[in-house]
Amino acid sequence: MLTVSRRGLLASAAITTAFGLNKKLALFRPAHAETSLEPTNGVYKYKVGSVGVTAVYDGIWRKPHDPTFIKNASVEETKAALAKAGLTTEFMPIPLTVIVLKIGNKYVMVDAGSGVGQWQANATHLPANMNAAGIDRSQISTIVVSHFHPDHIWGLMEKGTNAAVFPNAELIVNSTEYKWWTEPGRVEKLAEGRRPAGKRIADVFPTWKNWKLVEDNAELAPGVRLLAAPGHTPGHSAFLVTSDKDQLMVSNDTMYVPALLAPHPEWQGAYDQDGAAAVATRRKLIDRVIADKMMICGAHFPFPGAGVFAKDGDAYSFTPVAQS
Ligand SMILES: [Zn+2]
Repeated sequence: MLTVSRRGLLASAAITTAFGLNKKLALFRPAHAETSLEPTNGVYKYKVGSVGVTAVYDGIWRKPHDPTFIKNASVEETKAALAKAGLTTEFMPIPLTVIVLKIGNKYVMVDAGSGVGQWQANATHLPANMNAAGIDRSQISTIVVSHFHPDHIWGLMEKGTNAAVFPNAELIVNSTEYKWWTEPGRVEKLAEGRRPAGKRIADVFPTWKNWKLVEDNAELAPGVRLLAAPGHTPGHSAFLVTSDKDQLMVSNDTMYVPALLAPHPEWQGAYDQDGAAAVATRRKLIDRVIADKMMICGAHFPFPGAGVFAKDGDAYSFTPVAQS
């Protein structure tokens, strides 16, 4: 087992199942770290109590290095953090994984992925991997949406026509997020680069009747609660899954890419609407996950997108689950 920390990769004993993962965490192999970002098998199943979790790989953004990406760190510093985590430094690797929860006989999907051909050239795998996982999209009765960034919601809309991909599913989102993006005059107030996405959201989402707007701490499905996690966007939310004695924090973009933000939780991304709020939310959420010995997953964690955190001085270390 290797742990990503401020000091780099540390060998450690196999982590036990204290956080409720019903199998031993497999060895993370840094020599194949880049390969592990592009899994050959893009489906991974695990259990949280009686809830079935299926991690489904969508793809990866091989983002060119950009000095504006982290507001308070240089490209050299971000490259050093990637290297310490055993990842490539050729580009900023931003993988994307969607999870589907099976609660009883009901399927609840967390976010909808990036939509084939609507986000990045290498994020095209979600439909095939859903099929491989044995999940037909018509079976999904509920989609809980963490926030309105393209990689999380373009999968709700057909390319070109914007037709609803899930017209019969209930779409649940924090009311703060929905209202912020759809309020009159929002598009003009967005940074220029975000305006096309903002316009698409404002044009399409209010025409759909299957939205359910909820507040902080709402129960979205049996054992699934929304936790407001603002900063990345004003209504960005995490989801806490509880079943029997097990808990899984579905953190979405709170910890973004842990190779960067575990050792540097104070780094603020250009993608964060309110960087200071994002940092405060990140620390609060990760501290809770550690205190409660919880498993955590994140949309941009290395596939299969789950792991555990520990305190490391003023920062954190992250131990990803590797696909066995
Ligand atoms: Zn994202």
